[in-house]
Amino acid sequence: MKQLVITIDGPAGAGKTTVSKILARRLGYKYVDTGALYRGVALEANSAGLSMDDDAGLDRLCKGIKLKFVNGKKGQLFFLNESDITDRIRSPEISMMASAVSARPVVRKFLLDVQRDMGKKGGAVFEGRDMGTVVFPNAHVKFFLDASIKTR
Ligand code: C5P
Repeated sequence: MKQLVITIDGPAGAGKTTVSKILARRLGYKYVDTGALYRGVALEANSAGLSMDDDAGLDRLCKGIKLKFVNGKKGQLFFLNESDITDRIRSPEISMMASAVSARPVVRKFLLDVQRDMGKKGGAVFEGRDMGTVVFPNAHVKFFLDASIKTR
């Protein structure tokens, strides 16, 4: 069967994560939480003592990291180089830093390549706000998930 690239875009709180995980499980596809990638860069930048707007430093840092999702017994784990950072990226502090690094073009460019590489063979559901527009404009299937302000 053809291995599709499926994208799920939409605003925060619309249910993208829930829907993406269910869809990936049903199809036997990889689930790619692209927010985790920004969080991973932020975590590493923080450990290195970098300021989140130090573009030269961020560029160097990105060149030295490998980000990957690994399916474990308890679900999907997220690795930066050889370290399991699944839980460490979920603090409020890292959320704020991830938002700051996501505004840096140097980081977006780096993660654009990482994401496209992850989608090369298909068979994946990509969740994130720019998936169907910027990262995979030619995705086989694109969803935009929205919900009322109240529901979100
Ligand atoms: O979704 P999550 O909160 O994990 O995303 C972390 C940060 O990365 C957020 O600030 C979000 O806006 C940013 N992000 C992004 N592009 C994506 C996914 C997340 O800029 N595709």
